[in-house]
Amino acid sequence: MPDHPAHYVKLAEKAREAANMHSVSAVLAWDQETYMPAGGADARAGQLSLVARLHHEMCTAKELGELITACEADDRLTEGDTCESANIREMRRDYDKKTKLPAKLVSELTEATSRAQHAWKSARADSNFAAFRPFLDKVLELSREKARCLSDGSGELYDALIDVYEPGVKASEIEEVFTPLRKQISDLVRTIADNGKPPSTEILERPVAPAKQEAFGKFVAESCGFSFERGRLDITTHPFCEGVGPGDTRMTTRYREASWTDSLYGIMHEMGHGLYEQGLPLGESHGQGHVESQFGLPCGEAVSLGIHESQSRLWENAVGRSQAFWTWALPHAQKHLGQVMGDQTPESITRAVNTADPSLIRVEADEGTYNLHIMIRFELERALLSGDLSTADLPDAWNTAYKESLGLDVPNDREGCLQDVHWSFGLIGYFPTYTLGNLYAAQFWEKVREENPDLDDQIAKGNFAPLLSWFRSRIHIHGRRYTPSQLCERATGKPLSAEPLVRQLKQKLYPVYGIKQ
Ligand code: ZN
Repeated sequence: MPDHPAHYVKLAEKAREAANMHSVSAVLAWDQETYMPAGGADARAGQLSLVARLHHEMCTAKELGELITACEADDRLTEGDTCESANIREMRRDYDKKTKLPAKLVSELTEATSRAQHAWKSARADSNFAAFRPFLDKVLELSREKARCLSDGSGELYDALIDVYEPGVKASEIEEVFTPLRKQISDLVRTIADNGKPPSTEILERPVAPAKQEAFGKFVAESCGFSFERGRLDITTHPFCEGVGPGDTRMTTRYREASWTDSLYGIMHEMGHGLYEQGLPLGESHGQGHVESQFGLPCGEAVSLGIHESQSRLWENAVGRSQAFWTWALPHAQKHLGQVMGDQTPESITRAVNTADPSLIRVEADEGTYNLHIMIRFELERALLSGDLSTADLPDAWNTAYKESLGLDVPNDREGCLQDVHWSFGLIGYFPTYTLGNLYAAQFWEKVREENPDLDDQIAKGNFAPLLSWFRSRIHIHGRRYTPSQLCERATGKPLSAEPLVRQLKQKLYPVYGIKQ
C-alpha cells in the first residue's frame, strides 16, 4: 500500500500479524477436532492457550492503540465512505472491546464458565436444573458486569452483549421484529397441525453409506461454487466452518447412515458459511478482477454472526429445499446415492424435506418451527440478564413458553431449559443471531429473485453462478465496511422485516400439507 501514510501502513502490518496468529490457532483447533490422536489433548490445550495469550497481547498492545489514534487524527484516512475509514472505525471498536474488560473479570469469567460447563453436563444428564442453577447465577452476574464494562451507557445491558455478535443491533429493535414473527409463525404451525396432511418422509430414513453421502455432498458443494482448491471438508462430531486465512477455508460435517439428508443439509449449511469466507476480499480473484487484499483488516472479515448465518441458511433452506434445486440434483443423487433414490421425483423429495412439526429440541427442529425455539430463548435470557426473571423460575417460564408457542408439554429439564450449551459458555446475546440470520436470508432471497426472474430456471439447470455473484457483490466483498443493518438496506433497499420469512414459509409449507392459501 504505497500511497498510505506511514501510521496506516504500520497499523495494517500489526493487524496482519495478529490475524496470522489467529490463523495458527484456527489450524490447531481444526486439527484437534479432526485428526489429532486423543493422546495429544493435554499438550494441545497448552499450545492453544499460549497462542490465545499471544494473540490477546497483540490485539491489546499499547502501540496498536497509539497507531489507531494517529490514524483517527488523519483526515485523509477518516473522511468519506472508504475501506480505510471503515478499517480504522472497526479497529477502534475491536480495540476498545478488548481493552475495556479488566483482566480480573476476564479470568473470573473463564473460570466460572469452565465450572458451569462441567456442572451443566452432569445436570443435563440427571435432568436436574437445581444442580446447575448456582453456576448459571454466577455466569449471569459476571455477564452483567461484562455488559456494564462494554456498554456506552445507553439502552439496556443486554444490548452490550448482543453488540459483540451483531454490531449495532439493540434488543428493542429485535423485539420489534420478533414479536409479530412469533405470533405469525405460531399461527402457521397451528394451522398446519390442525388442518394439514403431513407429507411422507420415509425417503429420509433409507440407509445410505457415509462414503456415498460424502461424494454427493462434495459434488453439490463444488457445483454451488465452493472451491476445494481453497477449502476442505472433513468429519467432526460438531460441524463447523472456519476461514483459516486467504485460500484456506475448512468445513466439517458428520454422517449418519440412517439419515442422509443430515449430512447433505449440514454440508450445504457449512458451505454457505464457507462461500462467504471464500468471497471476502483477501486478494483472490472472484471473476471481478483483482481485489486489494484486506486480510487481517476489518474489511476482510465477516461482519456479524447474523449475516454469516444468513449465508448458511440461504443455501441450506432457500436453495437446498426448493423444487428447482431437486430438479437439478435428483439425477446426481441417483448416481451418487444409488438405488434408494430410484422411485423419487423432484416433487416427492421437496415435500419430504419441507416440514413444520413441533418438537422439543432446538437443534433437531425443522425450518418451519426453528425460529420459535430461538425467540423463546431471546425473551428468557433478556429477562434473566435484567433480573426480571429469577433463575428459580426459569424451568416454569420455559415450559409455559413451549406450551404457548409450540403447543408442547416439556416432560423434563433435560429436554427443556437444560438442552443448550450456550448459557454455560457465557454466550448470552448469541441466540437471536440465528433467527436474524433466517430473516436476512429470506429478505435477500426475495430481492435476488426479484432482480433475477429466471433464478429458479438457472438453479434447475445447476447454474448457481448468478446467485453466488449477487452475494459476492452485495455482501461478501464488503467485509465489515458497513454494519449489518446498513448492508441489509444497501442490498435490499429496506430495513430488516419479518414479512419475507413468513411469506416464504407459507409458500413452501402450505402446498406440502395440502392447505389452500
Ligand atoms: Zn451456522
